[in-house]
Amino acid sequence: MRYVDYIIVGGGISGSVLSYTLMKYGASVHVFDLPAENQSSRVAAGLWNPIVLKRLKKVWMADEMIANLHEVYPDMESWTGASFFEPLPLRRVFHNPGEQNQWMELTDNPGFKPYLNDEIHPTPPNIIAQHGSAMTKATGRVHVNAMTEGVRKALVKLDAYTEGRFDWDLVQPHSEGISYGDIAAHSIISCEGMQLATGQAQHNVAGFAPVKGEVLKVELPVSLEKECIHQGHFMLGEADNQASVGATYAWDGFDKGPTPEKRAELEEHIQKVWDSEYSVTDHLSGIRPASKDRRPLIGPHPDKENTWVFNGMGSRAVLMAPYLAQVLAEHLLYGAPLIEECLPQRFA
Ligand SMILES: Cc1cc2nc3c(=O)[nH]c(=O)nc-3n(C[C@H](O)[C@H](O)[C@H](O)COP(=O)(O)OP(=O)(O)OC[C@H]3O[C@@H](n4cnc5c(N)ncnc54)[C@H](O)[C@@H]3O)c2cc1C
Repeated sequence: MRYVDYIIVGGGISGSVLSYTLMKYGASVHVFDLPAENQSSRVAAGLWNPIVLKRLKKVWMADEMIANLHEVYPDMESWTGASFFEPLPLRRVFHNPGEQNQWMELTDNPGFKPYLNDEIHPTPPNIIAQHGSAMTKATGRVHVNAMTEGVRKALVKLDAYTEGRFDWDLVQPHSEGISYGDIAAHSIISCEGMQLATGQAQHNVAGFAPVKGEVLKVELPVSLEKECIHQGHFMLGEADNQASVGATYAWDGFDKGPTPEKRAELEEHIQKVWDSEYSVTDHLSGIRPASKDRRPLIGPHPDKENTWVFNGMGSRAVLMAPYLAQVLAEHLLYGAPLIEECLPQRFA
């Protein structure tokens, strides 16, 4: 029998960041994942932003999360040898003078000042916008597939990764906590993302309200370079004159995959904001594991012993996971408090 401190089920953004964090704190982990069945992290644009750009509101606990993220992802790059962390200003396009005024007022507000640049820029060529645009600060992008793949390879080297389904029916009580096959562990941490959120897991946690999202990949006649232009939807420059355009929101149709309706919505957006040709090269969909009150679910499993939940990050896993992983790690290892409003028990 092999002993590890924690079995982690799921190797999306949550499971990857959490396994790195627990190991940084000196704990040992073994991760089970089904990358081919991932329907969330795999399609994420990977943007992080402490401001909700549409409504110009600050994200819950944004300051703490931003500070943490700038340390964690570069450390994860050093650990994995992979490159995926990309600080990147995001461009907010203004649709009327009121939006521009609101932005400028907020640049004087101490809570927003670190995140909003106070210069109004003309928009780049081919982007249709009559009221200028401004850039965010302290924002950026994690190339999610490179990050999860880097973590997977690092775990494989440590013999701490199994590609395969974790079968909850095979978990047994053990003097150390639980056992699963030839692994004994103190406890299991479920990072099962959308599978748990949509009721496809072998156990239930109440309180999820998953949100489907779709993205188009388009080819442009010119490169958008490193621009991420936000005006309702985002248009994000990728390599080789490609861009990602997204994302949509829907609260049903989880088993349908990409839909013609959402493709039409995204194409309509492109035609409204892009003054040149484009051709669609791909159309992807995924499901955000969001909760009913828009707070993550982090803490003890409401029904299962020796089991923890690390999930519910909705559309902001890149921003939230590093900080929340630290909170959970410090609770598990030092008994530090969890965040009351994130406890899964609140929905039980
Ligand atoms: C279109 C779209 C765009 C998005 N853009 C962004 C963005 O720009 N920025 C951002 O922060 N977020 C974004 N998101 C949200 C983000 O994708 C999610 O918050 C995040 O991926 C959730 O990660 P997770 O690791 O919790 O879950 P998941 O990515 O769902 O990972 C769970 C993993 O667990 C595995 N698993 C489940 N059950 C088992 C089992 N029994 N055994 C083994 N493995 C199992 C699954 O196969 C999967 O690999 C976007 C989402 C969508 C749909």
